[in-house]
Amino acid sequence: MDEMSVAELSAACRDGRLSAVALTEHFLARIDTHDTRLNSLISVCRERALSQAAAVDRGEPAGALAGLPIAHKDIFCTQGLRTSCGSRMLDNFVAPYDAHVVERLDAAGTVTLGKTNMDEFAMGSSNETSFYGPVRNPWNEAFVPGGSSGGSAAAVAAGLVPAATGTDTGGSIRQPAALCGVTGIKPTYGRVSRYGMIAFASSLDQGGCFARSAADCAAVLGAMAGFDARDSTSVERDVPDYGAALSGDISGLRIGLPREYFAEGLEAGTRTVLDTAIAEYERLGAQLVEIDLPHTELAVSTYYVLAPAEASSNLARYDGVRYGYRCEAAVDLEDLYSRSRAEGFGREVQRRIMVGAYVLSAGYYDAYYLKAQKTRRLIADDFRRAYADVDLIAAPVTQSPAFRLGEKVDDPVSMYLNDVYTLPASLAGLPGMSVPAGFVDGLPVGLQLLAPWFEEARLLNAAHAFQQATDWHTRRPAGFE
Ligand code: GLN
Repeated sequence: MDEMSVAELSAACRDGRLSAVALTEHFLARIDTHDTRLNSLISVCRERALSQAAAVDRGEPAGALAGLPIAHKDIFCTQGLRTSCGSRMLDNFVAPYDAHVVERLDAAGTVTLGKTNMDEFAMGSSNETSFYGPVRNPWNEAFVPGGSSGGSAAAVAAGLVPAATGTDTGGSIRQPAALCGVTGIKPTYGRVSRYGMIAFASSLDQGGCFARSAADCAAVLGAMAGFDARDSTSVERDVPDYGAALSGDISGLRIGLPREYFAEGLEAGTRTVLDTAIAEYERLGAQLVEIDLPHTELAVSTYYVLAPAEASSNLARYDGVRYGYRCEAAVDLEDLYSRSRAEGFGREVQRRIMVGAYVLSAGYYDAYYLKAQKTRRLIADDFRRAYADVDLIAAPVTQSPAFRLGEKVDDPVSMYLNDVYTLPASLAGLPGMSVPAGFVDGLPVGLQLLAPWFEEARLLNAAHAFQQATDWHTRRPAGFE
């Protein structure tokens, strides 16, 4: 069961060769055995999982993912289950409805095993800002799994679940996928509905998924994607059959290598791994083209103005009045607001709210927020020009493999700089993936692939072609047998 693909597991459950209940029990047992070390799950919903699985076994209508055990990032609302967003603020919040993504996956037949740990309100690159404690990297427990969807990435890497959902605002699917050695896809902004996905920075937030292979991601993404009238930025556009697009043929594909990404800052060991992966693409028939994305260096400062600005507005709803954390014995309304927020939010979230309120304030709006909107456009235009000449872009995900727990937690700027290679595509709303490409000192390295808007099928096929020719994505961390 540990080696079967998503398609194989679902096919076997559908035609009764495999019991969905037995499959669920198998993965729940793996969680019991291994997750005390990793802390990748905030909640495990055993009863609900077994009853969903029993329905599949009874032959109740289920779609393409019948019986597939899955875990949802705890940012997705799940009806009747705690949805914490990694925060004390929502520690007591039981969602009254399901996110669109959850509805879709339920309808496809998936079995929800639990909710994965994450950086508080998805703010972070290391999974150390969670109210529920840090997640550990299964390849070496002294290292971070990346963030903010680090729980999902670690759970898939350790084989606690075959697939998991995540969200990516500035890299939170691609970066933990890279650091944990799994495959992750963030689709085009608008491809997956944000309904019921707790908002961080609404113009950037996008749901996606993690699995071991591109083929598995194709199956899961196919079930998640599609128009939803309840999200005003959801795009009304047909979802192609991603699985059918996996021909594995990439001959003639023009892959752009941005000069600005393969420059100073990229560590030598990581560079060697990526050079080898890119050479493999050339061997498979791709044509490599050097390209320029000249505004790349503006991405970190642009993102760290815009994302906090949107966050400060989105997080204004947590006021201690309607739901979520409320302080004890408030003396008046002002005290209720300020103490509920001071006690309910962690330090990083408070920092973002302060920065966001500052850049949106009357005196600084033009200098920071408006300027950042303009540089965001320049960054997107760089990609638009590049895609006139290339079909896909290949780049690093991070400068180096995972760093140690605690190493950057007190230095926000160095934590933010960790996102240099993932932020530009987020600002442009482009689809991107991280594909396992090798190891440095026993820690995984990911290759980032980016496609033009709505070309997820091309992206998945390019990742699939690489995975047909290499076995990095099949490697398992020791100690999780
Ligand atoms: N690391 C980035 C941040 O902290 C991205 C997070 C994300 O994509 N959710 O904002």
